[in-house]
Amino acid sequence: MIKGDFKDKLINVIASIIAIIFILEQLGKKVIRNALLEQLYSRKSIILIKFKSVYRPLISSYNLLVDSSEKNTEKASDTPVWQCEPFILSGYRKQTFSYTKCFKSIFYLHNESVNILSHLFGVFLFLYMFSRDYYTAKETFVYSWHSKRNEFIIISFYNASAVFCMLFSSIYHTFNCHSKDHSTCWLKIDFIGILVLIFGTFLTGIYYGFYYFKWLFIFYTSLISIISIAALIVSVSEKFSNPHGRALRAKVFSGIAISGILPLLNIHYIYGIDMILRSIILQYLFYSLILYGIGVVIYANRFPERFWPGKFDLFMGSHQLFHISVLLAAYTYYHALSYAFFNDYILTLGYYYNTHLYPYTI
Ligand SMILES: [Zn+2]
Repeated sequence: MIKGDFKDKLINVIASIIAIIFILEQLGKKVIRNALLEQLYSRKSIILIKFKSVYRPLISSYNLLVDSSEKNTEKASDTPVWQCEPFILSGYRKQTFSYTKCFKSIFYLHNESVNILSHLFGVFLFLYMFSRDYYTAKETFVYSWHSKRNEFIIISFYNASAVFCMLFSSIYHTFNCHSKDHSTCWLKIDFIGILVLIFGTFLTGIYYGFYYFKWLFIFYTSLISIISIAALIVSVSEKFSNPHGRALRAKVFSGIAISGILPLLNIHYIYGIDMILRSIILQYLFYSLILYGIGVVIYANRFPERFWPGKFDLFMGSHQLFHISVLLAAYTYYHALSYAFFNDYILTLGYYYNTHLYPYTI
């Protein structure tokens, strides 16, 4: 009897324990499920909150860097004509007549902020990439550094041309609220920067394209130099310095870009389309030119502010998009140059040309 009672009680206890475990398990699952869902929802909202909480305070704290008395933005209706950009209706800095005040304008939001910061970022990006590649090259080519040095000088020349372009551009956009005369002067510096970058791009392209054809390299380098000097003279002349000459300036730069087609046709004649399609430098040069082209078309047509005037005063205006496309194009091409340098691409080009073996591809 006692034994039977004990058995029943034991069964009851075990059943109760199993039931409790089951209930706890179910409860636990629910709790865990709820907790997971909660976390998921909270993550979702966190992302949304984060987006707003990062974006908004970032702008307001950026604006707090400079005392409010120093901030001088105004609408297009109050801004002198020489300073006005079509379809940009607000966010203009008042004329400062002071370089210190112009410099301080880097630290508050106006319609040139993205233009200044985007290319300032480019300056640091290219300087970082140069130092990274220099140290890697020194370590990688310990015994063959001498033979790789000329190639590295060419890459460094391109990097320097990108740094100059970005730096001159940032300087122009920072100081173009000083006064009309000073703005005109800095605008010329901006053009010189663009020309230097175009020249740097062509020179490296020609160097790689005609690496085994010395006289063609000399011929095209001379040709591009003459065209660049002519464009430089045209760009710094008074006629091209006013805002109405923008379409003409865009045409001058497009003309130089088109003049780069000639050496490309020659490279095509030597190596054929198959080789060009396999060549990472020429491929990436092509992508880079497309990015420049997109930037120029956007810039010349004032897209998107032409269709939504006043909506793109501070962010994503045509000039800002042009800056971003220049940054992307310059980076794309440098990426290809750097990759080719570390993978002995020059040798591959000739190797393929002489033996018809497959070259490296990315
Ligand atoms: Zn610009």
